[in-house]
Amino acid sequence: MTIGFIGLGIMGRPMAKNLIKAGYKLAVYDKYAKFDDIVALGAATASSNKEVAAQNEVIITMLPNSPHVKEAILGSDGVIEGISAGKIVVDMSSIAPAASREVGEALKARGAAFLDAPVSGGEPKAIDGTLAIMVGGDQKSFDTLKPVLEKMGSSVTLVGDIGSGNVTKLANQIVVALNIAAVSEAFVLAAKAGVDPVKVFDAIKGGLAGSTVMNAKVPMILDGNFKPGFRTELHVKDLQNALDTAHALNVPVPLTAAVMETLQALTVDGLAASDHSAIVRYYEKLAKIEVRR
Ligand code: NAD
Repeated sequence: MTIGFIGLGIMGRPMAKNLIKAGYKLAVYDKYAKFDDIVALGAATASSNKEVAAQNEVIITMLPNSPHVKEAILGSDGVIEGISAGKIVVDMSSIAPAASREVGEALKARGAAFLDAPVSGGEPKAIDGTLAIMVGGDQKSFDTLKPVLEKMGSSVTLVGDIGSGNVTKLANQIVVALNIAAVSEAFVLAAKAGVDPVKVFDAIKGGLAGSTVMNAKVPMILDGNFKPGFRTELHVKDLQNALDTAHALNVPVPLTAAVMETLQALTVDGLAASDHSAIVRYYEKLAKIEVRR
């Protein structure tokens, strides 16, 4: 099986490297970023998204958002111009489910299959090959691609038809954003009440309030370390997709809307490129206290 990989940013680069390490024959392309390091590992290069599609049986994309995926797949010199019947496109970006369906329909008209397969876990898990991968699409394409996805993730789950992967990712991003906000609000209260936040963390992390989010983000907050990780601006993108998707379905999402406004305030404060644990900075500003060791 020959694989073309498009989008070699924070996530795509280590994911592509893991496929090479696993022995797959890979061709890589990124419209803006350099990728000499991946070519040095033995990957072939392509000169456009169209060429990646023409030369490979499977095409994987890992791009920022819906407009980038639509441009790379449906746009001029895009994947769709090089695709042919029987090929499979797997988009692993986190985008709007409606955009996944639109891309899937266009590829289907050319006889190609499409899976939306966004990931959770961030750069460390992309490097380790232990991402959680949530997939939307048909069973046959999923079965064909599962061994490939398992080289990038430790959990690979087919959740439904095309678009379901990104619906699942939006649910994931709502839970993560609201969890960080709840942790932030609680720890700011504890700090202002004069209780050592390190001891609060030790006391509650093993109880019902404990979470993977708490374990990952509280140590960063206590150190005042907001180096991404997952950039605040990417979470703005995900919550915008969540709000748009929810409103199109007549689903009110009041807590998501509230945290979205928190993220907007962080953006105004120049924190768009900080880790999303910077949500605590919003609460710290309101209460005039910092949660630190
Ligand atoms: P990134 O911005 O680092 O990388 C995206 C790459 O796509 C860039 O190198 C860019 O040059 C390339 N690109 C953009 N438009 C292109 C086009 N038309 N053709 C070819 N290449 C193009 O982003 P990232 O952090 O790697 O994230 C990728 C996706 O994964 C996003 O949807 C993000 O929300 C999701 N995600 C990120 C993380 C994380 O921690 N960074 C975690 C989980 C999911």
